[in-house]
Amino acid sequence: MKHSLDILPLKSWLDTGDKPLIIAGPCSAETEEQLVSTAHLLANTGKVNVLRAGIWKPRTRPGEFEGIGSIGLEWMKRAKEETGLLTATEVATAKHVEEALAAGVDILWIGARSTANPFTVQEIADALQGVDVPVLIKNPVNPDLSLWIGALERVNRAGIKKLAAIHRGFSSFEKTAFRNEPMWDIAIQLKAIAPELPIINDPSHICGNRELIPYVTQKAMDMDMQGLIIESHIDPSVAWTDAKQQVTPAALADLLDTLSIRKPES
Ligand code: PEP
Ligand code: MN
Repeated sequence: MKHSLDILPLKSWLDTGDKPLIIAGPCSAETEEQLVSTAHLLANTGKVNVLRAGIWKPRTRPGEFEGIGSIGLEWMKRAKEETGLLTATEVATAKHVEEALAAGVDILWIGARSTANPFTVQEIADALQGVDVPVLIKNPVNPDLSLWIGALERVNRAGIKKLAAIHRGFSSFEKTAFRNEPMWDIAIQLKAIAPELPIINDPSHICGNRELIPYVTQKAMDMDMQGLIIESHIDPSVAWTDAKQQVTPAALADLLDTLSIRKPES
């Protein structure tokens, strides 16, 4: 499979030295206090580069918490001012892109359900025309490498060269230990097709529970993935979304300490 990606190396837009890029934060921004206090604990670990938080949440079924909405962008801004962490959130519409950029969010990501829909990806790409912001694109929910590459190409054609892929696993009808099957071969193929494209692993959404996260994280590092996006909440037991898979900032710091990471070739 060929591709037409023209991208910048990760190091040129977010230099983390010889360490992987670490993005961490709650699944959802819930309250100002929850977001800002989680951000402080994450920043204090000295191991996190970017604060993540979902402001608009793509829930599978209606009637659940759909995200706090635009007010959460103000909380992200405060968290950034107080901690110095860069910020990242999910965008699924042109309006999300406009609001997130206006609020100074540093990095945008496209969620797995959106990546599966070329109309949605194109709408986001059109809103990004002429903007210089890093964009991370999660794999589509279904195991379709072309769809993933197609989304990367659409955003790239809009002029976004600060681009990375997020491997968050794939839905399957079979129930296994994973919430989303990692299907590592798909990430391996993506790397073979586009070796210059950074791949960031999302063990939280692959695992769906805290227990498996160390195993998946180590495997991602063994595959030389360039970063991790991990959900971390000040008190996972009371999280409004994805409670089973979130880890405390202290547990995240322990996890990162125990990882064995190969130094990249320079
Ligand atoms: C998330 O990052 O919280 C999220 C909704 O992820 P995904 O798009 O991978 O399901
Ligand atoms: Mn989540």
